[in-house]
Amino acid sequence: MEFALFCTKVNILILILALCSPCKFIQSPMDYGPSNLLETKSSASLDFGRIVFNSPSAVLRPQSPRDISLLLTFHSASSFSKVAVAARGAGHSIYGQAQAIDGIVIEMDSIPSDIYVHKKRDDESGVSYADVGGGVLWVELLEESLKLGLAPRSWTDYLYLSIGGTLSNGGISGQTFKYGPQISNVLQLDVVTVLGGLGQFGIITRARILLQDAPQKVKWIRAFYDDFDTFTGDQELLVSMPELVDYVEGFIVPNEQSLLSTSVAFPAHLGFMPDFHHVSSAKVYYCIEFAVHDFQAEGTSAEQVSSSLVVEKISKQMSYMPSLVYSVEVSYFDFLNRVRMEEMNLRSRGLWEIPHPWLNMFVPKSGIKEFKDLLLENISPNDFEGPILIYPLLRDKWDANTSVALPDAPTGGDGVEQVVYIVGMLRSANPASCAAGCLDDILRRNRQIAEAASAGRIGGKQYLAHHPSLLHWRDHFGRHWNRFAARKNLFDPLGVLAPGQGIFPRVH
Ligand code: FAD
Repeated sequence: MEFALFCTKVNILILILALCSPCKFIQSPMDYGPSNLLETKSSASLDFGRIVFNSPSAVLRPQSPRDISLLLTFHSASSFSKVAVAARGAGHSIYGQAQAIDGIVIEMDSIPSDIYVHKKRDDESGVSYADVGGGVLWVELLEESLKLGLAPRSWTDYLYLSIGGTLSNGGISGQTFKYGPQISNVLQLDVVTVLGGLGQFGIITRARILLQDAPQKVKWIRAFYDDFDTFTGDQELLVSMPELVDYVEGFIVPNEQSLLSTSVAFPAHLGFMPDFHHVSSAKVYYCIEFAVHDFQAEGTSAEQVSSSLVVEKISKQMSYMPSLVYSVEVSYFDFLNRVRMEEMNLRSRGLWEIPHPWLNMFVPKSGIKEFKDLLLENISPNDFEGPILIYPLLRDKWDANTSVALPDAPTGGDGVEQVVYIVGMLRSANPASCAAGCLDDILRRNRQIAEAASAGRIGGKQYLAHHPSLLHWRDHFGRHWNRFAARKNLFDPLGVLAPGQGIFPRVH
């Protein structure tokens, strides 16, 4: 176990000495080497959002799950239990959720990557699965499981996120309509915790993830629209055909830049550069992405033809702008890892490590058009930077026992409204064109949008939320608040874990 100490708080020092006497630990910057220490310290107070920067007092770099349980056991049984503790996976939160001001940050990536893949035998009744450490990245699990022709069923768009980090939230992508979020695809966890619990109830040291046969290739299709109702109508058509369709997403295209940046990983030549400037107002377009798995090995043709037929059959039922449909065939790995290419592109232009004032919301189908109008009223389409994702999920793929707050189903009508949209306004704030005042302005507008969308007719709920007060959190969980608070009281009564979520005030 390595422990880097950043302040001379006596209680933390005693804690470290008590814990680490048999293990390797770092007591002073000199033991660690000044450059490593600075790197560790700054990484623990940094995340992808680059909006919140809270420094911990200490960083633990465990070598095994045992180091974590040692820390937590000792911590809760001692007078040091006032010190907050946060697990940090890949640190890709936006608003400091994995930070712990004056507390201890546990860097989960220091545990050696440990992945065991079990492939179900033909004579076996069980399922294929992978046992994987909480700090492992999804891309590492993909690489390992593909060696046996397997892969997890449910994904996030970006794969350099940790298992524990996304299982603390949900884990959503274009496969969610079919298999549910990542938290619906977990068979076991090693640590007492509650899935989707925002890191509030324990630290995930190991998870058993359901696997399925991986296709060799994917047919990846994009179709364009200039009418919102037609766009959402087609998206809802696609998610009603899980036997044919393997992935459905979509995005709003407010300007030329947005079209180009979202197309970096899409290797087809888009012969489409629409006119965004109408006489009276800016014109906005919409794009659906869907994919069909292709299990055929390269070179042979029978199945390939049939997956092309599937795409043809689906496309015939859609109502995209005439001739504005593009399709490519890519390897399954490249398809799942598509955002990496965008990352590399942005990095090369110095546009990755900049502030990201993101806003993600679940919006019921009944409120999606009004929400889209609200979004567009609050952005300036000409200079908006970053993708605006929008795609449907199905309510019955979510386990109601997890802590994710989905919007309540509208009452009345014929039965429960199944479709809920996820909308991600994934905005970048380039300091060259958007300085501090501008970033504050975006954050203020995000709050206004979220508040307007949560109240009244739209009835949305934030995903990956960061609310300013306990009252807001109570509102966020709604009728599930009491259950969430009871779980916290049971698993973390002193309110030590994941202070960066800002949900529970500390008990002193
Ligand atoms: P961290 O930021 O390190 O931690 C997040 C929270 O989880 C913290 O509260 C932390 O304390 C807790 N935590 C971390 N590890 C553990 C653990 N082992 N046990 C218990 N608690 C833990 N999300 C989607 O759903 N779909 C997407 O397509 C998607 N795409 C993204 C693309 C990018 C470029 C980025 C930056 C984020 C994206 N996200 C997406 C959001 C992402 O899923 C969450 O921010 C997730 O929490 C990040 O994982 P992480 O490992 O970086 O977590």
